[in-house]
Amino acid sequence: MRFIAVAGGEPLRSADVEGDHVGDGEIMIDTEVKSVSLLPLGMLTLDQSVLTHRQFPGQKVDCPVIAAFIEMADGEHILFDTGLPPAFLEDDDFLPANQANTICGYTVEDDIRNRLRAVGAMPADVKIVVNSHFHWDHSGANYLFPHARFLVQEKEYRFARQPDAFINPAYTPKLFDIGAETRLMPGDEVIKPGILAITTPGHTPGHQSLMIMLPSERAMILTGDAMMCPANLDPALPPGNAHTTEQAVASIQRLKALADFHDGELVICHDPALWDKWKPAPHVYA
Ligand SMILES: [Zn+2]
Repeated sequence: MRFIAVAGGEPLRSADVEGDHVGDGEIMIDTEVKSVSLLPLGMLTLDQSVLTHRQFPGQKVDCPVIAAFIEMADGEHILFDTGLPPAFLEDDDFLPANQANTICGYTVEDDIRNRLRAVGAMPADVKIVVNSHFHWDHSGANYLFPHARFLVQEKEYRFARQPDAFINPAYTPKLFDIGAETRLMPGDEVIKPGILAITTPGHTPGHQSLMIMLPSERAMILTGDAMMCPANLDPALPPGNAHTTEQAVASIQRLKALADFHDGELVICHDPALWDKWKPAPHVYA
């Protein structure tokens, strides 16, 4: 399948991917994605006002934690986010109390190594990990992939090391500071033929989402925490935990525009109703 990647004004950068440039910021590329699986990695209890800005404070909602496992046509394996740290299963004190207290479901089955096994992969097979951002519930198992190359926005990499105090509790340096090879991305980027990193700041200054073009010509857009539930969409109602609310609104509008343009579907990673809409691994989307 050929598709046009549009990155709204900014010319789309591509470090490794060849394509035919067909206009300003547009590039035609054949997708080399084979399939995508969604890995269930536990559950968090969040306040409704975190999902939808200032709405229903005090009302608790159980939300999934996920990663996406992408298989390329040449057999290469790529992960989007790594979820919670399996070390927590053996050590209750591995995470700070404010993080541990939000976990409402996390078992050995949810260990990312077991979820990878279900799709026939091992951590050592994963050569690239894309982190949406460095919050603890998205970078928790980074340490299991020390040989992988991490792709993260440069802004996120810097901010995570010196976050504003009010957002500080969501960053746990031992989870993301693992000394692995890391490529700092300066913005939107085609990271593989058929995989686009889309900057969606707001939740954090360097947050990114991932658009994946499947061989079926369907586009899956993994939102990360740029959105928390479908109620964020129409009209744009930002989550309540954004670092910058104004940017969060713009990022929701950007994801919606990309989904509309590409006839794509949004995978809203913490959506409480995620598993009503999407099937978990070992199901593959292709
Ligand atoms: Zn999150």
